Amino acid sequence: MVAKGDMLYAWASTEEGVKKGECGGAVTALLKYALESKMVDGVLVVKKGADIYDATVEVVTNPAEVEKASGSLHCGTLLLSKILTKYLAGANGMKLALPVKGCDTMGILELARRNQINLDNLILIGLNCGGSVSPIDATKMIKDKFDTNPDDVVKEEIDKGQFIIMTKDGHHKGISIDELEEDGYGRRSNCRRCLYKVPRQADLACGNWGVIGDKAGKATFVEVCSDKGATLVSKASAAGAVVTSAADPKGIAIRGKVEGAMLKLGNKWRKHDFSALSDNLWDTIKAETSRCIKCYSCIENCPVCLPIEKELKAATTMVPTGQIPPSPMFHMRRFAHISDSCINCGQCEELCPMDIPLALLSHAVRAETDATYNPKLGSAPYKN
Ligand code: FAD
Ligand code: SF4
Ligand code: SF4
Ligand code: SF4
Repeated sequence: MVAKGDMLYAWASTEEGVKKGECGGAVTALLKYALESKMVDGVLVVKKGADIYDATVEVVTNPAEVEKASGSLHCGTLLLSKILTKYLAGANGMKLALPVKGCDTMGILELARRNQINLDNLILIGLNCGGSVSPIDATKMIKDKFDTNPDDVVKEEIDKGQFIIMTKDGHHKGISIDELEEDGYGRRSNCRRCLYKVPRQADLACGNWGVIGDKAGKATFVEVCSDKGATLVSKASAAGAVVTSAADPKGIAIRGKVEGAMLKLGNKWRKHDFSALSDNLWDTIKAETSRCIKCYSCIENCPVCLPIEKELKAATTMVPTGQIPPSPMFHMRRFAHISDSCINCGQCEELCPMDIPLALLSHAVRAETDATYNPKLGSAPYKN
């Protein structure tokens, strides 16, 4: 029997499943088993749309469809929490299993706290996450740094600190993420500052860190984080959907070291980004937001802006309507509102049509609030 706290290696029980999966296909096999065994009514998958820069979501109810979404999309910067509330009634009335990165997990928990998502109806299969790359920046990076036509790239992966591309003629090329980031490319800036690399508040935390020996690249390291996660792995393993073995103690130690190094790097980026703002945060906010066209995207896509959405869309004395750019109070109200709850998911910045560095500003406000009112917490929401 698998129990909460266990650390395992897991892989799909079929050769095809292992081959198609990013690291042995355990996540796909678990999602598929949850559907086949009727633990859930549907599986929400993230899959390739038109190309590798186009991550899309789909709820599938046919187990065979789950396999079509195998593999990791590092240029997939979707946030799944708002998709659950906007299109799936917060999982009320439908049991769902889904793969979640750290920011997806945090967004789901924030919306569950606001009674917008029914956690009882969800199985969250967490994915460790070193970061994702904005699709537009990825195409520029591939052109400029890889000297490759982005349309020729059929697969990308992140392995041993490198961003690696594979082209349709079978060529591989990898460049270290450190080098890419020194030159202004690489992961989204919020991802560089992210400290939630292993999503232990999901039911399982799955990733490639710590898989060593002959299983390297062919299995996923699974940390069992809840009783729900333990039940899923136990049943899937008993039914022959996944194969598991105890994680190698050396692998467990290596995983811990890599996570520690990633947290150190995240803190380095926080220092770098926030210290550049520290003397003039409010002046920077005013200057940057002066090109706002009040499209509301930053509010509609934020998992924690919920209660303020109505207020900012209504004609209030604080924020008069009919002005572009809007009065600075439009942004001040939003920043005040998210000051104790921004999860640094990056959605506001990613989707702002005026390229305002909103996540940087929101995260800096959150960090400043934490440092002032809750110094023990530091600036690391969900740090574990
Ligand atoms: P598969 O069976 O291939 O299933 C993968 C599942 O992930 C599919 O269900 C698919 O729908 C879903 N998925 C694909 N892209 C996304 C996305 N962008 N957002 C949400 N779901 C998605 N592991 C580490 O140990 N260290 C890392 O630094 C790390 N970084 C990652 C960064 C990203 C952006 C992603 C998506 C994953 C990352 N992982 C990382 C996890 C790792 O790549 C594998 O996903 C994990 O080991 C499971 O492998 P698998 O073969 O079992 O998954
Ligand atoms: Fe991954 Fe964190 Fe970026 Fe989300 S914010 S994609 S969890 S690094
Ligand atoms: Fe995410 Fe931006 Fe909202 Fe913060 S303010 S939670 S970064 S969308
Ligand atoms: Fe303004 Fe950008 Fe927000 Fe749109 S997304 S309201 S342009 S700050």
